[in-house]
Amino acid sequence: MRAAGIIINHEALATDRIYTYGIPEKMNLKIGQKVRVPFGLGNRKLEGFVVALNDDVDLAYDTMKMKEIFSADPEVYFEEKDLSIMDEIRKSYMATYLDVIKLMIPRGILQGMKHKMSENLYTISTLAQKHLKSPYIEIYNEVDQHPGKFIKSDLVRKGFSLSSVNTLIRHGYMAVLSEKDYRYNVEEYENYEERTLNEEQRAAVETIDKKEGTYLLHGITGSGKTEVFMELIRRGLQRGEDAIVLLPEISLTPQMIERFKGRFGKEITIFHSRLSDGERYDEWHRVRAGKVKIAIGARSALFLPFKNLKMVIVDEEHETTYKSEMSPKYNAKEVARLMMEKNGGRVVLASATPSVESYYQAKAKKLTLVSLTRRATAGELPKMEVVDMREELLSGNRTIFSRALMKKMEEVLERKEQMILFLNRRGFSTFVSCRSCGYVFKCSSCDISMTYHKDNSLICHQCGARKYLPKTCPSCQSKYIKQFGTGTEKVEEAIRKMFPEAKVMRMDRDTTKHKAAYENMYQNFKNNDCDILIGTQMISKGLDFKDVTLVGILAADLSLNLPDFRSSEKTFQLITQVAGRAGRGDKKGEVVIQTYSPEHFAVECAKTHDYEGFYEREILMREALKNPPFTKIFHMVFTSEDEKLLREKVMEIGDRLRNYLKKYDTIILLGPSPCMISKIKNSYRWQMILKGDFSLDSQESIRLFVQNEMKSVYKAIKVSLDINPNSM
Ligand code: ADP
Ligand code: ZN
Ligand code: ZN
Repeated sequence: MRAAGIIINHEALATDRIYTYGIPEKMNLKIGQKVRVPFGLGNRKLEGFVVALNDDVDLAYDTMKMKEIFSADPEVYFEEKDLSIMDEIRKSYMATYLDVIKLMIPRGILQGMKHKMSENLYTISTLAQKHLKSPYIEIYNEVDQHPGKFIKSDLVRKGFSLSSVNTLIRHGYMAVLSEKDYRYNVEEYENYEERTLNEEQRAAVETIDKKEGTYLLHGITGSGKTEVFMELIRRGLQRGEDAIVLLPEISLTPQMIERFKGRFGKEITIFHSRLSDGERYDEWHRVRAGKVKIAIGARSALFLPFKNLKMVIVDEEHETTYKSEMSPKYNAKEVARLMMEKNGGRVVLASATPSVESYYQAKAKKLTLVSLTRRATAGELPKMEVVDMREELLSGNRTIFSRALMKKMEEVLERKEQMILFLNRRGFSTFVSCRSCGYVFKCSSCDISMTYHKDNSLICHQCGARKYLPKTCPSCQSKYIKQFGTGTEKVEEAIRKMFPEAKVMRMDRDTTKHKAAYENMYQNFKNNDCDILIGTQMISKGLDFKDVTLVGILAADLSLNLPDFRSSEKTFQLITQVAGRAGRGDKKGEVVIQTYSPEHFAVECAKTHDYEGFYEREILMREALKNPPFTKIFHMVFTSEDEKLLREKVMEIGDRLRNYLKKYDTIILLGPSPCMISKIKNSYRWQMILKGDFSLDSQESIRLFVQNEMKSVYKAIKVSLDINPNSM
């Protein structure tokens, strides 16, 4: 009997394995098909996917006892050639087979979603026109001119009678065809200007176009990277190749999308997280049917079923959103490289502030560095000024704004230009505490202090819990409750007081909860209906407006003080990116950076637009502290509602793991210790951090060791394993 290896789609299945089933005599089965199989003692009907056939199936069973597949869905959801990439993802990121399959197919398929069908009308014979009379001839001509565009009710809406339409069909002049109706269509965008590439841009295109491989396109802010992408894609299209452009956050990059739509029109799909399951399902099929040649999307767009994918562009490659935080915890940049190495294509990682890891690889010649050193428009990079906020304090200025920034804001308003004020913290003030006893308002389910918002509420930015701020301290009943720290709401309030005439907008997660809100603000700013835009990191990228001449970075230290080995890198990137919004037209841009640590090299190098200088300093620290790119980090987070059990068990596993690791002399274990945020939603959190030179084999054996140790407590304690996480 022929056999198939099946991955069962059932969340509660504790084991991650391929099950063997017999293939019924007349069934013609392919890899990637969805099947129904009997499972367990009761022979429950479950769904699964075919991942191996016949000779490749590991026949653990006596074939006589093998159960048979019930039925198969004829569609093929992934192909044999995808299996090796799927397996690599599974191993590299320690995921299950099922998790990896879920990457490859839209969720709708697992929910049994079907194509929406449309009963479209077509004419049959053109000779018919000659002898048809009114009203039939009018109906006939209408359908003849728009084949497949109308269904019966469309014609009724146009004023024709349903019985006349039916008569034409009955007599064979027209036919109804049941066709797939796609739920999502990219609307067209007319307003597009063709640009001629400048010399640097052209040279970049030539280098990348010449041969396959991985490239790091390091182009300063405003150097015109988008035009380079579009030209590369255009050339690929001519050779019949498909392309994917990954963006960190689709909803925050409307300008880029407008340009792509303008240039490529209907050949594009925009594959973002706000699509419904139905829309995703349709787009996935549109790609597979070859109706789409270019996808722009978040990291999940990488798995769209293109036939001839030859280029993946990763814009703002330094952004952390390319790493998934759900299993498989894959890094889209790494997976893109794996795919393009297999397909013989190109990966273009692009940024004004490349990640230290990517730049290190460029230096080591593991990828090819291509640079754009000048802005594409007449403008130069903005003039940067660093203000030491300690001196402001000493000289009696206790406000959020330094005198230098105040003066420049007044000037910009005077000249009727625009400005952006950046503070990476939403809410009104950071935390609230009692001055009498020191009590700090904390979330009752998480171990973090709650943020005060100006509607007099306290909000937990971890779990969203919300309560009203009481008038007296819950601990000592004193009335001396005080707010500390500054968020964007406080900045907005201060600005409105200082400049009552100015048009002010605040853009952060609180003001953009609704889909249209961001778009509205963006349009307002674009139409100069706003003088001052205040915002969090949402405003740090993508905005390309000619009249922005001033950027104020209110607290550059926020990201510096994070206990994370990437804190300097994050700070340098944020300052450079936000500053890059200024002076993009022909007017000169200025940037004021307010900080308590003006001497920090991340601040100093950002001030002088010195990426190289920053990198040289940073890489030495990475090496000295054995951090990536010199090592890999294997992060284990253990969570449980039982604090005592968790602590005891994790300490015990830690001891045993340390012992086990003796056979790997390059791997060190830090911890166990409580996580930075030691409780989220009533779940306590402990961690272990392993650093070293992991191979897939050592990674796998450590995973098995830990999971084995957890067997006795697998219901009470959960473990999450991550390779090179964004943060710890
Ligand atoms: P980046 O992504 O590198 O920051 P953009 O691609 O947004 O830069 O380009 C910055 C600005 O320069 C945009 O307004 C863009 O239209 C313009 N631009 C790009 N290339 C050219 C060119 N060759 N000629 C004229 N303007 C250009
Ligand atoms: Zn108190
Ligand atoms: Zn909370």
